[in-house]
Amino acid sequence: MPELPEVEIVTKRLRELIAGKTIIKAQLIRAGLAPENSPRQFAASLRGARVDEVARRGKHILAHLSNRRTLITHLRMTGRFIYLDQDAEHTPHTHAVLWLDGGKKLLFDDQRHFGLMMVARTDELDRVKHLAKLAPEPFSREFSPEYLHDTFKRSSQQIKLALLDQTKVVGLGNIYAAEALHRAKINPRLPAKKLSKPRIVSLHGEILAVLSEAIANDNEFDAETGDLDSGYGRYDQLARVYEREGQPCLACGSQIRRFTQGARSTYFCPHCQRR
Ligand SMILES: [Zn+2]
Repeated sequence: MPELPEVEIVTKRLRELIAGKTIIKAQLIRAGLAPENSPRQFAASLRGARVDEVARRGKHILAHLSNRRTLITHLRMTGRFIYLDQDAEHTPHTHAVLWLDGGKKLLFDDQRHFGLMMVARTDELDRVKHLAKLAPEPFSREFSPEYLHDTFKRSSQQIKLALLDQTKVVGLGNIYAAEALHRAKINPRLPAKKLSKPRIVSLHGEILAVLSEAIANDNEFDAETGDLDSGYGRYDQLARVYEREGQPCLACGSQIRRFTQGARSTYFCPHCQRR
């Protein structure tokens, strides 16, 4: 599942490919992809609009349009954009299509049907339910160690679960939450409010470090397949604990362990992260 770094990479690629282009026609093929818009409304609100800017908020991609509307996309599990020539065939799981000027089209393909799209008024984005409660962006000034300290001191949640809570911290999912905790040597089960200020400062730094490294770990966009996911998210090269159960910790040599937390796997080093 894409987390902030992967969504950032897709956002950047989309910006390079479609910013400045006009949507000649749009079609919502699977209505459930955009439950807040009817297929007719979806098509009508995108047709003729130019893409002014493509931005990211948390794990959402925001395409701001010249008609004061914004197309919001959440990739969820398997959603992906594919950028092709207009006469290319659609993929088997194409659920929406934007035809662009210049002879190109953008498909939204989603094998598992968890992805979400919505067209909203740009001046009302703050009120869109998916965006309204999001925590500050990790790379913003607002997301400081003080912010984390204030947020966590009120939370009895275990720290790993608090890191996944998008109202507290945006952009971290199961992989980067585990990686940041390992780097900061924090026990994933520790209640968030028990973290001392120095440990929060360390965690804050490691969250930014792990996200920056993952964003920088981008590969070339493969223009031939047009798949905007191509070569991204190679976290296996970076992971120190994620999916490394039974393998030695790169810091101390102890075996990495896995347990279930909030219905998902948490990977950690029992020695480095004992407290
Ligand atoms: Zn270790």
